Amino acid sequence: KCAIEPSAMVSDACISYGTVNKLNDEIYSLLQGLTHETDFFSYYRLNLFNKECPFWNDANSMCGNIACSVNTIESEEDIPPIWRAEELSKLEGPKAKHPPRKVQAERPKERPLQGKLGEGVGESCVVEYDDECDDRDYCVPEDEGSAGKGDYVSLVDNPERFTGYSGAGAHMVWDAIYRENCFMKTIADQLEDQSLNAPIGGLQAFSDFRDVIQKEARLEGLPLDNECLEKRVFHRLISGMHASISTHLCWDYLNQTTGQWHPNMQCFKERLYDHPERISNMYFNYALVSRAVAKLRKHLQSYTFCTSDPEQDADTKERVNQLAEILSRPPQIFDENLMFQDPSAVVLKEDFRNRFRNVSRLMDCVGCDKCRLWGKVQVNGYGTALKVLFEYDETKNGENPPMRRTELVALINTLGRISHSLAAARSFHEAIEAGEEYP
Ligand code: FAD
Repeated sequence: KCAIEPSAMVSDACISYGTVNKLNDEIYSLLQGLTHETDFFSYYRLNLFNKECPFWNDANSMCGNIACSVNTIESEEDIPPIWRAEELSKLEGPKAKHPPRKVQAERPKERPLQGKLGEGVGESCVVEYDDECDDRDYCVPEDEGSAGKGDYVSLVDNPERFTGYSGAGAHMVWDAIYRENCFMKTIADQLEDQSLNAPIGGLQAFSDFRDVIQKEARLEGLPLDNECLEKRVFHRLISGMHASISTHLCWDYLNQTTGQWHPNMQCFKERLYDHPERISNMYFNYALVSRAVAKLRKHLQSYTFCTSDPEQDADTKERVNQLAEILSRPPQIFDENLMFQDPSAVVLKEDFRNRFRNVSRLMDCVGCDKCRLWGKVQVNGYGTALKVLFEYDETKNGENPPMRRTELVALINTLGRISHSLAAARSFHEAIEAGEEYP
């Protein structure tokens, strides 16, 4: 039985929920420890505040999010400001907390720096390639198009949970993300889109053009339908990420009337339990990301974790290696080699990558600080997983694309998030099936 998606082709990652749950039980604490207890994985550098939404104007975006969501919750006027959506979506503490800078002073002489970090930059001795945009990237590097290098944010101090961000702004972002999935549309559809963008008067030319293209496509035996494995993978990835975010906000939910935080069963029922395919997509993402971490096993064995404290760095490395080792054990739960195999693979892959980059750019349209933070972390995490799956060759050294520190941090935190979602979804399921009620 293929439990990831009963009707799916085996190639999508066909493995039972039970197998994945068992694996998750094994790595859960290890992963939560890595993401919550180590400096390396709990600080993330990103440009959270200085980038504008590149797809629609800011005024529109602002109206859609904080302001509107506050207005739409009628009882908000009656509750302390700290529980209002606007407050909830803010980051905790100083927004750009830098990890301790004692590094430089305490660094033993025999541990040479690996990169040109410049004076006073002691946060890591890992070479960061943030200035370079590699065309094999699936995400837009965080500092693209902005002057600064971004801020450090503590992921531990700013947990992903209910923020109250909703309404038109949030929907606009989700809609735009799902629209990116239209890339493998029929040739006719793509032409239809072109006609929408074409100047009025160009329609006749368009329809002539369509006839020619369709004829050519038929002659070459090209598919005119819009279903292909890669398109489904893209959709499942986005839907799985959406489902994971929903699971967290339902799990760590604020009852704005009582002021209590607790799991919200109704929220889970409506958003996930009643849509089993969304849960299936979460499992799919788990399989995909954990395979990427497994594929990095060798790379991680020689990776230098360099925060400030050699003891902690050794401990971080040991935990990461243990994680990658467990994830490398059979059965392999995702087979990336089945994708991008047909003759149009090069174009398809390029398209897939560009679509995903657009999803990454869309994160600047998210109008709530915490949601944007976690949206960016997770999109970068999935982007990194895709890069590892489709651009890395484990057997080659030196020819693989560079791996930024932020990518590795995002990858492990994203796996940590899905792992937590799976555990939360299981608890919700068990409670629902046992007829229990959460407060
Ligand atoms: P939404 O979740 O907004 O969904 C919109 C529509 O998409 C639904 O009506 C449904 O048709 C479809 N849909 C829903 N789920 C799926 C799925 N898994 N697969 C396919 N289709 C689906 N809110 C928080 O409280 N905390 C956060 O940390 C947070 N992070 C966010 C990050 C991003 C990037 C975005 C865009 C939003 C975030 N939000 C967060 C807002 C949250 O995701 C919802 O938009 C909000 O709670 C309103 O939910 P909704 O019920 O209106 O449906």
